[in-house]
Amino acid sequence: MGQIVLNVSEQTLLKMKQAYQSVEKAPPPGAVFSAKTASTTITAYKSGKVLFQGSQPEIEAEKWVGTKTTTKSKAVKKKNTHAYHPDPSLFHQSLIGSDEAGTGDYFGPITVAAAYVRADQIELLKELGVRDSKHLTDQSIQHIAQQLLLIDIPYSLVILDNPKYNQLQNKGWTQGKMKTMLHHTAIENVLSKIAPTKPDGILIDQFSQPDVYIRHLQKEQKTLPRSTYFITKAESHSIAVATASIIARASFVKKMDLLSKEIGFTLPKGASAKVDQAASQIIRKKGKAYLDQIAKVHFANTKKAQKY
Ligand code: MG
Repeated sequence: MGQIVLNVSEQTLLKMKQAYQSVEKAPPPGAVFSAKTASTTITAYKSGKVLFQGSQPEIEAEKWVGTKTTTKSKAVKKKNTHAYHPDPSLFHQSLIGSDEAGTGDYFGPITVAAAYVRADQIELLKELGVRDSKHLTDQSIQHIAQQLLLIDIPYSLVILDNPKYNQLQNKGWTQGKMKTMLHHTAIENVLSKIAPTKPDGILIDQFSQPDVYIRHLQKEQKTLPRSTYFITKAESHSIAVATASIIARASFVKKMDLLSKEIGFTLPKGASAKVDQAASQIIRKKGKAYLDQIAKVHFANTKKAQKY
């Protein structure tokens, strides 16, 4: 049995009471209302604290996570204890995994991939060398990505190139929002590719708290697909995420090679002083405006490059 605790506003508490009116039951001492759905017992207290208990408390709790909370919910505040934390058994099932590359790199796009890996393919992928891409060189990542193309792994790769990235950033989008929409698009693409098959779950390499992710989706009139889970370092737990991670990284490396050819020298990855130097070289050669084509210009590197 699981338990999730949310802290909600008075207003939300009233809405909850209304929403669960038909399944309301006598509240235990100290509680303001209590209700029981097929999967969850909900108990609310005057303080705004609401307990969701049952075999799958997230089913009910997630309906209220996106609502305004008075204080951050305990369920999502503590790392790895939010309502979307996967049970370890999930890692051995048929999953859509998703991960991104390029978010911390000044030069180059953001690439996001989602991949569907069936439980019976996990061993084969391990044989091919699929594992946490942080332990792999860019060269072996590209080699493994080539081999992935030869087997039946439905995937979607979404690339946010630099001009579009800078445009969205100017519009006020945070990188978190961009990543959210890219992951969502990639996952939706894979879901429609494999339909009517449904995955046992969707696992996202966590880059923000799930409630923040869900809020970004809601603002764009999108909803979180069923059975979505978030965990940090997901690529080290799940072969589906590791596969997505390799596809995203291989694509990022390929794009960086192309941009380097275009510029005439190897563009450094990351956002170090080496990157500042390369950026200043580009400003001198092509003008500052050109950075918009190949870099995430809001990074501090742009200012530093201009000082050179
Ligand atoms: Mg990641």
